[in-house]
Amino acid sequence: MIEPITRRKFLGRCGRSLAACASSALFPLCTVSRPARAAAIEKGYIGRKLSPYFTQLNDQIVRCTLCPHGCEVGPGERGLCEVRENIDGQYYSLVYANPCAVHIDPIEKKPFYHVLPASRAFSIATAGCNFDCKFCQNWEISQVRPDDTYNYRLSPDQVISSALEYKSQAIASTYVEPVIFIEYMLEIGRLAKSRPLLKVMHSNGFINAKPLEDLCEVLDAACIDLKGFTEDFYQTMAEGSLGPVLNTLRSLKSRSVHTEIVNLVVPGKNDDPKQVRAMCQWIYKELGPDTPLHFSRFYPRYRLKSIPPTPVSTLEKARQMAMDEGLHFVYVGNVPEHPGGHTYCPNCRKILIRRIGYRVKLLGLNAGKCQSCGCAIAGIWQSPTS
Ligand code: SF4
Repeated sequence: MIEPITRRKFLGRCGRSLAACASSALFPLCTVSRPARAAAIEKGYIGRKLSPYFTQLNDQIVRCTLCPHGCEVGPGERGLCEVRENIDGQYYSLVYANPCAVHIDPIEKKPFYHVLPASRAFSIATAGCNFDCKFCQNWEISQVRPDDTYNYRLSPDQVISSALEYKSQAIASTYVEPVIFIEYMLEIGRLAKSRPLLKVMHSNGFINAKPLEDLCEVLDAACIDLKGFTEDFYQTMAEGSLGPVLNTLRSLKSRSVHTEIVNLVVPGKNDDPKQVRAMCQWIYKELGPDTPLHFSRFYPRYRLKSIPPTPVSTLEKARQMAMDEGLHFVYVGNVPEHPGGHTYCPNCRKILIRRIGYRVKLLGLNAGKCQSCGCAIAGIWQSPTS
């Protein structure tokens, strides 16, 4: 179980950074470790790094090759995600080592349910995103430029030492779309390779093949949002597209990166049972029955404030449908104390991991196997050793 961070502890740990954090709506309750605390925090601090993901076109115009948007960007301009800039015909990331959010979270918050249960994830995010989801839960940092957030100077080395100091078992790139700060993720991953830390991310999966290949070299686990199962949903609700996300899921599977999928069920938008069934059939066929799938409850947010929360019965029906299609690990998310939040053995149906909110208890799992029937359970159950 994760020890909750009390306000007293929080105040003690955050020191001078707290004033900057608390004074900005962009910094919800944050926990930062000593190296992070020692790092300066500054509004609009930009961490510049030449990107390996661009090609030069004519007249100093560049094309970004990081994600399928393929932005063509003139001198002095930025791509759609607002965190990459053409400076004299070279393309730079502006979000290298300048996170605006640094938290220690339960790993279940990502949500990973099959990765080191009840462990801590040192979680980071910079400003920016390559999608514009109408239901974004973190729009205060995802839909702004790094110029507008309060950013730490936090080198990859400091991220690793902070994670270890605070007894985290994983470094998580999360909250916004981490693909947009890939250079930071890659360097953290390379430096942390021999450390007892998993490298994980929660992503929309909207990334091109080559950068994904690079990422897979350093990534242990990915939680991918499969936001809906039609191109129309992706275009109208997220300004993205479905095809590249499916390609990412196939690639992660082929490279043996542990993958979990989150589907936020938005009433009237992506809850058509036919679509849900088609999505479950695709996951079963392409990724296999052991892929954990989380049906997550929508709450009114950002530009979808008029839509009510997802009825719990809708999530339960989706879960049943997914299990009927053969998926072994299907969860109801964002509904505290729901029995659909536990992990059950797909063979004997005993509860293996019980979750009440973020209180997690291993009941019947031993070294990745069901204690009752010996069935092997897909996931990462052991920390990497240094
Ligand atoms: S990463 Fe940003 S700049 Fe690059 S193609 Fe995607 S949206 Fe455009």
